[in-house]
Parts: sequence; structure tokens; C-alpha cells
Amino acid sequence: MRRLRLTAPAPTDLGIELLGVPVGSPVEAELRLEAVMEGVLASGQARVRLRGECARCLDPVEDELEVQLQELYVYPESDAEEHEAGRLDGELLDLEPVLRDSVVLALPFQPLCEPDCLGLCVDCGARLSDDPAHAHDESIDPRWAALSGLKTTEAGEAASTDEE
Ligand SMILES: [Zn+2]
Ligand SMILES: [Zn+2]
Repeated sequence: MRRLRLTAPAPTDLGIELLGVPVGSPVEAELRLEAVMEGVLASGQARVRLRGECARCLDPVEDELEVQLQELYVYPESDAEEHEAGRLDGELLDLEPVLRDSVVLALPFQPLCEPDCLGLCVDCGARLSDDPAHAHDESIDPRWAALSGLKTTEAGEAASTDEE
């Protein structure tokens, strides 16, 4: 059995669309490598940095995440194909797939800048957490104004048809 502590730069695309580990940021791992019958069992934790944006208000989100890792790496000559195991490459084992799976599974679907983020005003895009009393008397979007004009015209035409 061997204990191992290592820091490595994060690979690309480690994460989901709204939240992920910045490329090249340090991934710190503490691992236990145990020789077992079929190969090497690696287990331990990895700590990564996270950067992304709030799913509601699009503010930047920064966080840290610690994930548990466990993977069996079988010897190259092993025929343990049916275990979806990693495979040893000489003395090397590739931690990236297990790290990727663990990180992606641990990420929230909807990263938030704060648990009760109020999101953005649908009318003007203001961040509601900054101004919870925010309100508009009526819609200010000119597209809606144009639509309500159209509705009036249609109603007027319908009315004149009825009269004939
Ligand atoms: Zn937010
Ligand atoms: Zn508004």
C-alpha cells in the first residue's frame, strides 16, 4: 500500500456548461494505492476550484469542491473486461476519467451565487437580489406596446364587419 499526495493542472472541459474547473488550475489529490489481485485499487479525495455563473442572475460564481475517488486499475494483461475498470499502462494509471466522473456528478445542475438568489427582472434585467422591492408600473418593452396596438386594430375591424 502506498499513500500519494499530488497536485496536477486541471484538464480541459472538466465540468458542465455553467460551472467547471478552470483549465490549468491546481487539482490536489490525496490517494491510497493498494495492490490487489487484479491490479491496483486507487482511492482518496481530490480538491478542485470551481468557476462559473449563477443560473439565475449570471453573476460569477467561485467555489471549491472536494470529491471522493475510487477506481480499480487492472493489469494490462487482465481479461477483467466486464468490470468497467481502468487499466494500468505499465506503472501509470490515468486518474482523469474517474476525476471527471466524480466532479461532474458532484456539480449542482443550477449553480447559484447565493442559495436564495432572486434572479433577474424579466422586464429590465436588473438583479433582483440587489433591489428586492424592484417593480414596474407597467411593461416598458416597446414590442409589447406594438402588440397591444395591433390588438386594438383587429378588434376595430371585427366590430365594423359585424355592423355590415
Ligand atoms: Zn445569482
Ligand atoms: Zn425591472
